[in-house]
Amino acid sequence: MKIICIGRNYAKHIEELQNEKPENPVIFLKPDSAVLSKNMPFVIPSFSNNVHYEVEILVKICKVGKHISQKFAPNYYNEIGLGIDFTARDLQNQLREKGLPWEKAKAFDGSALIGNFIQKEKLGDLGNLSFSLQKNKELVQDGNTKAMLWKIDEIIAYVSQFFTLKIGDVIFTGTPAGVGKVNENDILTGILNGKENFQINIR
Ligand code: MG
Repeated sequence: MKIICIGRNYAKHIEELQNEKPENPVIFLKPDSAVLSKNMPFVIPSFSNNVHYEVEILVKICKVGKHISQKFAPNYYNEIGLGIDFTARDLQNQLREKGLPWEKAKAFDGSALIGNFIQKEKLGDLGNLSFSLQKNKELVQDGNTKAMLWKIDEIIAYVSQFFTLKIGDVIFTGTPAGVGKVNENDILTGILNGKENFQINIR
């Protein structure tokens, strides 16, 4: 499986990192080795002093497709989840300044936390999904899919122009504002539509 991530999909997060609003979705990939094993803590890697959490809505692909039109995009996913795109922000900023690819900062081992997936029918309107992240029981990120610049079906149409989507692939749809640093012994809790979806310890 592969992980396709969307960057800069929420206006307030673009502002907080002082990025420009892109004309098209920003896309990057994480390999399957980036997936954090279930029930394992996230270990801060030695190459970074500033790893950020980014809570994101996830979409799991259930059908092979390429050049998918927006209209038919819902046929390609049945389940929605919640996860964290862990980002070595210090390294990402260095790479960005040099115009280099982001993989070392975004695609390292354990950088993709994938929480529980839920049948999309059980979630109601996917254009109005609330989700949040708590750090040590304090709210740090609070998002809603209605604030996405590119909605789930638009993302699928766009990315499938470049990459064949395969069964089991996961799309990270971008993070809302409130990203911040993780520290040893933090506990991060992800909440989707009012229900706890995952909890992760930082080591
Ligand atoms: Mg992200």
